[in-house]
Amino acid sequence: MTKPKQSAEAAPVYVTLLDELSATGCAADYPAPETEVVNVWKIACDGGEGALGHPRIWIAIPQDEGVADCGYCDKRYINENFIEKLKG
Ligand SMILES: [Zn+2]
Repeated sequence: MTKPKQSAEAAPVYVTLLDELSATGCAADYPAPETEVVNVWKIACDGGEGALGHPRIWIAIPQDEGVADCGYCDKRYINENFIEKLKG
């Protein structure tokens, strides 16, 4: 009997999608790609379920920009430290 081994890698903590970000005014006319606020600098993306699914890749968020887009599904990852900056 083997117990499932816990991953040594800490799971990223996902913060709820911020409505405020979409209210900043630049993307009112078209649906913005999904945006996710994370508290890590490296995030795995597999596009989630359904049509947007893709092979799992790791995305590094540049620490001087705080934002990275997934090359497959265009999902945008924002480090929580940059939320205030991006809001302007
Ligand atoms: Zn993706």
